[in-house]
Amino acid sequence: MTAAGTGLASRLRAQIERDGPMPLEAFWQAAQTSPEEGYYARGRPIGAGGDFTTAPEISQIFGELIGLWLVEAWTRAGEPTKCTLMELGPGRGQLMADALRAARVAPKFLAAARLVLVDASPTLQDAQEEMLGGFNPVWRDSWREAFAETDDAPLFLVANEFLDALPIRQLRRRGDAWLERLVAVGPDGGFAFTEGPACDLSGAPLDAFQAAPDGAILEHSAERQALSDAIGRRLSETDGAALLIDYGYGAPRLGDSLQALRTGKPADPLDAPGEADISAHVDFAAIIRAAEVAGARAWGPIDQGAFLLALGADGRAAALTRSASPEAVHVIERGLKRLIHPLEMGGLFKAIALMPAIYPPPAGFEQE
Ligand code: SAH
Repeated sequence: MTAAGTGLASRLRAQIERDGPMPLEAFWQAAQTSPEEGYYARGRPIGAGGDFTTAPEISQIFGELIGLWLVEAWTRAGEPTKCTLMELGPGRGQLMADALRAARVAPKFLAAARLVLVDASPTLQDAQEEMLGGFNPVWRDSWREAFAETDDAPLFLVANEFLDALPIRQLRRRGDAWLERLVAVGPDGGFAFTEGPACDLSGAPLDAFQAAPDGAILEHSAERQALSDAIGRRLSETDGAALLIDYGYGAPRLGDSLQALRTGKPADPLDAPGEADISAHVDFAAIIRAAEVAGARAWGPIDQGAFLLALGADGRAAALTRSASPEAVHVIERGLKRLIHPLEMGGLFKAIALMPAIYPPPAGFEQE
């Protein structure tokens, strides 16, 4: 790491020199969402030539099955004639495009739905407009803005790889205390971790880890929990359903899962803020707790592979291959395997569903 870098890096460095080391959460927020130089303002991170690929970019089956899942949830809610269909972090819009195509089986759902797309990236919003403009979406730049609006219509929400993009803080065990890991400026002018004074981040599951060994790291995301609280509250007030898919773990655990990708390769998360995509694994237990305290019921987490198979991924792939060329058959089968195999995304990614407490398990979660 060097003292050179973008204007964003210089500004963050100046801020740290003025105010002292900053929580990881603040550094992350600035690196990802600063209006001009943040990662999301700077280009096209997803898909061919981007920094990473995602399930809907791998196979149309992913978005199609989610579209049918949403239709089923809407049917179960009594086919409301007005509803809000919201996607958090739609990326290039592929998931929603495939979902809406599959949802043509229920024209009344398509007629009822007002499409709300939440995305911090102006370039990705442009891509979404190209893909989804025909559905007259409205855009919101942040989930807080979207949930601040009064909306009495039932909410049907989907988010794939959104939670992992919301910032976390990290605590490190030292003796009997937990110290917050802060971002400082090192002697060479680059960003480096340092440890702050003892702290007990409110909401972090510190009691569960009283026996943690020296040096252990505990992650906590107030932002993710606040989002889950907002979804849970809205669902219990207005009805609907939410499907959240991400990589993460079901029971609270220790460990450093902070990671960054820069042009497809792992990078140091503190190096070159704004130039790499920063993420961390999702603590699903914390997400579920927040939604349930807010009045919703959570189902899962279950592995993405098990979820997609329960929704009929195999049958859909078979139908697609029937009229396909041999090369296309290979692409379809390879894509399906990546999505469902336990050693690929099928086991790494997990799904949870949030619904009002009155409902039986939603599609795909019956085996739980
Ligand atoms: N769901 C898509 C993209 C996942 S990448 C897919 O599966 O392909 C994460 C997406 O969330 C991007 O579109 C990014 O611009 C958006 N995003 C990340 N952090 C955000 C934030 N804090 N607020 C709003 N959007 C955000």
